Amino acid sequence: MAVLIDLDTLHHTVAPVIFDAAYTVAEDLDDLRPYSGGALGTVGQDTPAPQRAWAGFVDGTLTGRCECGTIATAPENFCVHLVAVVIAALNEAFPWPPAADLPDTLDDTPDTPTPTSPTAPGAAPQPESPEAAVRRLAGVAATLPPVTLARLIAEHAATDPRLESALLAAAGLPTSRLAKNP
Ligand SMILES: [Zn+2]
Repeated sequence: MAVLIDLDTLHHTVAPVIFDAAYTVAEDLDDLRPYSGGALGTVGQDTPAPQRAWAGFVDGTLTGRCECGTIATAPENFCVHLVAVVIAALNEAFPWPPAADLPDTLDDTPDTPTPTSPTAPGAAPQPESPEAAVRRLAGVAATLPPVTLARLIAEHAATDPRLESALLAAAGLPTSRLAKNP
């Protein structure tokens, strides 16, 4: 059977920041299974909002549907969850059927009971460790187009001297002209 997609192709198709983030979370993706002619997995099981993502070849085109709202017919438009599913599938030598059907729902089995629902009304959200918050937000940030991300950071850095300083330092630019906090 012809190879429909490989890691190299995927790597060159998706944005590097998405690929890198997806590669990291793909290592924790352990519920990959065949579904509707494609691969279905839950991404971000350690985070408050795991996302089910499905990818398969619909009419010969790698197509994805994710609980985060992404529906894409080209890997370059995939969210980080979808890329993670594809990476996990490739790592496990998932036997891609050549003809998949884009599923209407990703809710195939009730096998993910959520002990604490962070969105339940009235329920106090569990405190999140700073490290977990960084990982969660990094996952979110990785799904944004670089232009959007840059603008977000710039808007905040413009009003936050510490962030501006960190931004300039990360870019290797001098920060000495900044007014130091007393
Ligand atoms: Zn997604």
